[in-house]
Amino acid sequence: MTRQSQGHLDCIPAPRYADALQSVVDFVKEHDDWLIVSHERPDGDAIGSALAAAHILTALGKTWRFVAEGPLPARFNYLPLFSQAYTSIQAVDRQFQHVLAVDCADEARFAHARSFIAEGAKIVNVDHHHTNPRYGAAAWVDADAAATCELMFHLALALDVELNEPLATCLYTGILTDTGGFAQPNTTRDVHLITARLLASGVQPYDIAEPALESRTWPQMRLLQMALNNLTVSSDGKYAILYVTQGMLEGAGCTDDDTEGLVGFTRSIDTVEVGALFRETADGRIKVSLRSKRRVDVSRIAQMFAGGGHTRAAGCTIVGDLGDAMDAVVEEIERALEAAGA
Ligand code: AMP
Ligand code: MN
Ligand code: MN
Repeated sequence: MTRQSQGHLDCIPAPRYADALQSVVDFVKEHDDWLIVSHERPDGDAIGSALAAAHILTALGKTWRFVAEGPLPARFNYLPLFSQAYTSIQAVDRQFQHVLAVDCADEARFAHARSFIAEGAKIVNVDHHHTNPRYGAAAWVDADAAATCELMFHLALALDVELNEPLATCLYTGILTDTGGFAQPNTTRDVHLITARLLASGVQPYDIAEPALESRTWPQMRLLQMALNNLTVSSDGKYAILYVTQGMLEGAGCTDDDTEGLVGFTRSIDTVEVGALFRETADGRIKVSLRSKRRVDVSRIAQMFAGGGHTRAAGCTIVGDLGDAMDAVVEEIERALEAAGA
């Protein structure tokens, strides 16, 4: 080992909740055949941490299947093992006794993969959502971690798995996307120390940032044009809302997955504390994405509608009409802004 890489290793932060990490390490070591699951509308951290799990299990000589809750966004197709993910609409030939759930705030987040989970199967829960009720036979939940990929980094080290470039690429992707390109308040010293270690493994930042964060297809850009046309801000400037209907998706040639990132435009208005995006799904439900800047805990608003998430980024699904869902959520946003003195 060179002196330089030794130096990086010296700076690696210690994981928090070492006992919980150890319970996951013991469980993973003990069992050989795994189903990996992550949350619906998979984002960079969901996919990054699931594929990192796949690399770790392979390195340990174990077998696995990754069943994603839905189609994986093509922007992440540079990820090693990307093409080996199954989606829950495809048949996987059997059920599994051991499940590794990553980036899933609750068990409903991997509802589609249920049919591949055997009765009485043991679930290992690795996550960073503070709303996570710590389900499973072993749970390691650290809400101070910027991304589940930060936890998977520690898991790899604890299991003595080599941090090679393919694994580092998965980990970097989750950390990059969940910190909004190292810009959100969850960007910590630990994040940068871990990231430095990932660069030492050969990660090329722009090769990941360009597809993962920057790039949009032309239909996605058309949808952005349409969506910005209906961006509205409250009279006091404190919250902003956007909506996307099925008609808009069709008009732009997009699917539901192409709305990723749109909610950010609500929060980028300088006076706005809370931003919300409402999306009509093909099956007639309304998906709500909530974001805040500094004062309002949007996970509490999401929880009022049976959702969850983080303090500054949360979501929920409402059954009903777009207008009614917007009215109901706006009422809670106004209440939360007032309670926060924002
Ligand atoms: P999104 O608005 O879909 O980008 O979600 C923002 C954050 O909230 C992500 O960390 C999601 O994992 C989380 N989240 C979204 N919807 C839910 C839900 N129904 N239950 C729990 N967490 C959620
Ligand atoms: Mn996620
Ligand atoms: Mn995450």
